[in-house]
Amino acid sequence: MENLYGKTLTELETLTGEKGWPRFTAGQIAGWLYRKRVDDFNLMSNLPKEIRNQLAESHICKPIRPERVVTANDGTRKYLFRFYERLIETAMIPDNERNTLCMSTQSGCRMGCLFCSTGRQGFGGSLSPGEMLSQLTGIDEADRITNIVVMGMGEPLDNLDNLLKTLEILVSEWGFGLSPGRITVSTIGIPENLKILLDKTRVNLALSLHDPFPEGRELLIPSERRWPLSETLTLLKNNPAARERKITIEYILLSGVNDSDRHAIELNRIINGIKAKVNLIPFNSAPGSPYTRPDEGKVDHFRTLLRNKGLTVTVRKSRGGEINAACGLLSTTGMNSAETL
Ligand code: SF4
Repeated sequence: MENLYGKTLTELETLTGEKGWPRFTAGQIAGWLYRKRVDDFNLMSNLPKEIRNQLAESHICKPIRPERVVTANDGTRKYLFRFYERLIETAMIPDNERNTLCMSTQSGCRMGCLFCSTGRQGFGGSLSPGEMLSQLTGIDEADRITNIVVMGMGEPLDNLDNLLKTLEILVSEWGFGLSPGRITVSTIGIPENLKILLDKTRVNLALSLHDPFPEGRELLIPSERRWPLSETLTLLKNNPAARERKITIEYILLSGVNDSDRHAIELNRIINGIKAKVNLIPFNSAPGSPYTRPDEGKVDHFRTLLRNKGLTVTVRKSRGGEINAACGLLSTTGMNSAETL
């Protein structure tokens, strides 16, 4: 049975057209799926009984629920989903009034960044829109989520078509109706796909920069060879659509690797002309990783160097560390002690 969950309005209109049903039926189905969150065709009371019966014979309309969930002492939760044979993780980070969902777009990742647990796991496939949306609506805390960061497993721009459909469903009036300002897509920078994302959406952007020197960045992010950071930065400086949204430069601080004064000075130089905030992320040590976290003095010094250049700089708090839900630690190899739902 095909799952209608994750279909865009256009795709639902194609279905209703094929069946010979009135076109507005597609909007009614979308309303039930995404606004009213109904997962039983029989409850879609404004659809004629005949249409409800036909839909129930050939389709389902359910988000997928997580198999397991683990909760850290600080309230951060990590969920393990099984989409067919692929395992993926999602995290929810509560912070006062704000509850942020960290959504995955792929099982594992093709980019192979050396500091990243997901990257070391290899690639298991890209997720469909229904699988991405299930990470929001399949969890018990769905109604309390205020922000979404597409920053979990996978490179979102390596799954562009499904990402765009997911974002369309999240922000459309016929869908979830979320403000695009509450959604942030994080990428290492694939310029041709980034341009499409900028042109077609109004979501915020986080650029994983991590080293301002090409030769150093390539050692951390092998895809620097194929998609040089300089091309992404040129796009962000020149594309009018880029100037209309919040941009964050993500910079994981790795002790002795990218935390020198030289790095701070060059980072400031290359992002000059982009209206962006810099978010420093002291590395969370992970099992098997060759990298370590700089001490607090070093982090403060790096931040001060950037602030003295006039940049807005934040240092990300580490959350969910003991359940490996912190940044760069999502990996389906570490949920052995999880509570089964
Ligand atoms: S940092 Fe992002 S792009 Fe790089 S391997 Fe990890 S998930 Fe993939």
